[in-house]
Amino acid sequence: MPPQYSFTEAEIGQDLFYNYRMEVDQEKDLEVRTVPGKGQGLFALHHITPGSFLTEYRGEVIDKATKETRVEALKKIGIRAKYFARLGDDKYIDATLSDCIAKRANHSCTPNCELYTVKIKGAHGGFIEIVALYALTELEEGTELTLDYGDPSSDIFQREVCLCGSIDCRGSM
Ligand SMILES: [Zn+2]
Repeated sequence: MPPQYSFTEAEIGQDLFYNYRMEVDQEKDLEVRTVPGKGQGLFALHHITPGSFLTEYRGEVIDKATKETRVEALKKIGIRAKYFARLGDDKYIDATLSDCIAKRANHSCTPNCELYTVKIKGAHGGFIEIVALYALTELEEGTELTLDYGDPSSDIFQREVCLCGSIDCRGSM
């Protein structure tokens, strides 16, 4: 069993203070696999409990203006801007060129994971903010991890037909 770090419901969504960033990273318990019709997806290799911190959404930290410029530039060449996550109030993580596996989580209208901005202790004192992927629900071994791209914290705007198959599917994402 991998180590599990669960947070109470009240703590989820708040600024959390942790200094064990790498020790709790459960990236080793996740795997990127090909999903028919969706390209790649992210899967749990073990049972994971709700509230578990899974991994960091890593990439380049940019401001809002830079993000908007990049989204427009991608749109012009026909590429959907999929890999931006909000970091705090006015910063974003651009994971387009990052090898982080968190960005492989596909959309679902009934997601089982969520992204949060989390404050952690920096190596040289003070705090830094990161975007972290958390399990919202129980994840059985082999479950595909999903995010609601329509959630403002995910900050992925363009509409596309949704293939999530959820009973509560909104039809687009
Ligand atoms: Zn859907």
